[in-house]
Amino acid sequence: MTPIPATLIRGDGIGPEIMDAVLAALDALGAPFAFEERPAGLNAMERHGGDPLPEETLASIRRTRLALKGPLTTPVGSGFRSVNVRLREAFGLYANLRPCRTIVPGRFSDVDLVVVRENLGGLYVGQEHWIPVAGDPHAVGVATGFNTREACRRIVTYAFDYAVTHGRKTVTVVHKANILKVLSGLFLEEARAVAKDYAGRVAFDERIIDACAMQLVLDPARFDVLVTTNLFGDILSDLVAGLVGGLGFAPGANIGPDAAVFEAVHGSAPDIAGQGKANPVALLLAAGLMLDHAGRPDAARRLRDAITATLAAGTGTPDIGGTATTAEFGAAVAAAIRRAPAPTGAG
Ligand code: NAD
Repeated sequence: MTPIPATLIRGDGIGPEIMDAVLAALDALGAPFAFEERPAGLNAMERHGGDPLPEETLASIRRTRLALKGPLTTPVGSGFRSVNVRLREAFGLYANLRPCRTIVPGRFSDVDLVVVRENLGGLYVGQEHWIPVAGDPHAVGVATGFNTREACRRIVTYAFDYAVTHGRKTVTVVHKANILKVLSGLFLEEARAVAKDYAGRVAFDERIIDACAMQLVLDPARFDVLVTTNLFGDILSDLVAGLVGGLGFAPGANIGPDAAVFEAVHGSAPDIAGQGKANPVALLLAAGLMLDHAGRPDAARRLRDAITATLAAGTGTPDIGGTATTAEFGAAVAAAIRRAPAPTGAG
């Protein structure tokens, strides 16, 4: 099969190590992507006039419309704008998809759900100001959130379409419309309207965010696809990662009309960078999502089966109690792919 053009960003901290492990696994799958490697992040700043997201990287994603990205460090303070947020804005990546599935049974053995998070609006727009009172310039902090009808409709439609194409049965809309009657109320109103278009094909359910958080911790198997606004999605997707062993197992996809960027949910882990200890599973799973997105579901399945087989054989990095290095884990997944027979015609 013809390799699919895609942009590759190794990222900061543990990024280069986990990316090498992913590339080893993708090689074993027959290198389904023709990667253009481009710079981004703190590591790119020195070589690109202080810009952590150089134009050549944006131009590459504009061309390929597909990127696999390692984690990028966002320094605290100093007015540094998150490169991740800049990428979402530059390509209108409005849907953040975070599938969460049990691979190694722990507290739960049967979690298989997907959080769909609106990625561009809500309280995340960061429209904030202070109100001074009695000589205290920071006496009151104010934040304003924005949800547009169009953005609410678009993300809920995305969630229902995802459910249809992935054989999912139920979409649960998560909101706080009982208190935030305008900001969250609009989201719920649009969700109910969109759900009518899918009646008979996908079931619709609604939950208030606080109740949903408790129910997820008690019985995650009752959930299928969850769709929610930016801040609730940010929190819920880390919560659900915790149900299946933590951030080391959480992949994410940022999807827009013109491009899609795939990544691990975790950050650049500077505390373990360069030590060969990082767990590459989340980025491997992100590469699987990218294969699905690019129309190579057979290759995605082979990759996921190899990850599961490797973990089941007891190979793991130190964060999950194993002794394998990042490179050894990547090589073990590659070996598992080569051992399993490829289905005829699969790429
Ligand atoms: P982090 O996710 O990098 O690390 C949190 C903890 O989890 C650390 O102890 C780390 O060692 C561990 N950890 C994370 N990934 C791991 C892996 N694959 N294997 C083993 N252990 C792992 O979060 P942080 O420390 O809050 O953030 C570090 C930097 O990453 C910050 O600059 C932050 O802004 C950035 N960040 C980037 C992204 C992204 O690029 N998508 C996401 C989150 C944070």
